[in-house]
Amino acid sequence: MNGAFRPLDVEAIRGDFPILKQEINPPLIYLDSAASSQKPNRVIDVLSDYYRTYNANIHRGIYRISEKATEQYEEARKKIARFINSPRACQIIFTRNTTESINLVANSWGNANLRAGDEILISVMEHHSNLVPWQLLAQRTGAKLRYIEVTDEGLLHLEELDRLLTERTKLVAVTHVSNVLGTVNPVQSITAAAHAVGAKVIIDAAQSAPHLPVDVQAIDCDFFAFSGHKMCGPTGIGVLFGKLDLLEEMPPFLGGGSMIRTVQREHSTYADLPQKFEAGTPSIAQTIGLGAAVDYLNDVGLDAIHPHEQELLEYAHQKLSEIEGITIYGPKPRHKVGAVTFNLDRIHAHDVAGILDQDGVAIRAGHHCTQPLMQKFGVIATARASFYLYNKLEEVDSLYEGLLKAQKILIRRRG
Ligand code: PLP
Repeated sequence: MNGAFRPLDVEAIRGDFPILKQEINPPLIYLDSAASSQKPNRVIDVLSDYYRTYNANIHRGIYRISEKATEQYEEARKKIARFINSPRACQIIFTRNTTESINLVANSWGNANLRAGDEILISVMEHHSNLVPWQLLAQRTGAKLRYIEVTDEGLLHLEELDRLLTERTKLVAVTHVSNVLGTVNPVQSITAAAHAVGAKVIIDAAQSAPHLPVDVQAIDCDFFAFSGHKMCGPTGIGVLFGKLDLLEEMPPFLGGGSMIRTVQREHSTYADLPQKFEAGTPSIAQTIGLGAAVDYLNDVGLDAIHPHEQELLEYAHQKLSEIEGITIYGPKPRHKVGAVTFNLDRIHAHDVAGILDQDGVAIRAGHHCTQPLMQKFGVIATARASFYLYNKLEEVDSLYEGLLKAQKILIRRRG
């Protein structure tokens, strides 16, 4: 991580993102990177270059452009392995997104290893992607789903961990960073506690990989899942990291071309890792694009991005707290990353987002695919502003002004 810009030169970074340079009125103030990030020229150019100059299927063509496509695709795997400190590149499985990575583990490892009476431990702050696959697995196998509760402050109730982790616990599935509250969970100590009772651990890193330096060997998790589109990469490409012995013993998830060694009429044998889990033609351009996104993040430096985002978060907390009738959910900025989530009294979050949009401010409103968390806080929806390397403090001011405007318009209208 030898950053080209340090401390972060936000104007230079913004220059890398064409969507932010558009001459539109009002200008785009993009505060929804937790849903999907914007893409720098470097990534867009790599996609275009692939389609313009060496578009071909991989791993089978005995001709130059197919060989180049294969090389670039496998190079991306190596870059991503280094990015999360995976011991070997073959432990990086390409999927469509975090959701598919988690479903792969639930179906392959889960079906093979869970039985009636076993327990899967998740938390109340999970995205539905790290919840519904475990519900389905529990229904298929007779295993039981148990929950780590969330405190009123928006942290995990970790004192309960000792009681919840027993010899029945076979899997702990927990998010590294909450997509709603921004809470950063201590995944390393959770993993150690889970391993002490013999449970495996999968970390949902959809909201951490884009923002924090991550090291799967230091965490010691068994599986680690994230999406390219939230970290400056294209849509349609996700990653699953797994420990080598587990991936090797797991049965395939999807069957088809590319994942086999031999096929007979009645049975087949399967390819080595990682191909065993990459059936069919993969997202070639998107994978190469994710490699470029990783290069970009490495050049800027996550160690420079993180403090910049913390500054935005602290400032957003401070400004938004000044607004009468606002409820901010989640812990203090020092315990979180990337997002501030709130409601204004007597105004639905969708109406808040609609008013902000009139001034070009893009935020997210709704349940954020975390209905159990919404239930915990007794709301059906919240508004969420989320930040990334290209956001600047003035954009927080625009958010603040937009919220005052929403109150003025909507509360006056309702009398
Ligand atoms: N997990 C978390 C914490 C997320 O924030 C998201 C997306 O918002 C997901 C999982 C699912 O990601 P994807 O839709 O890319 O599969």
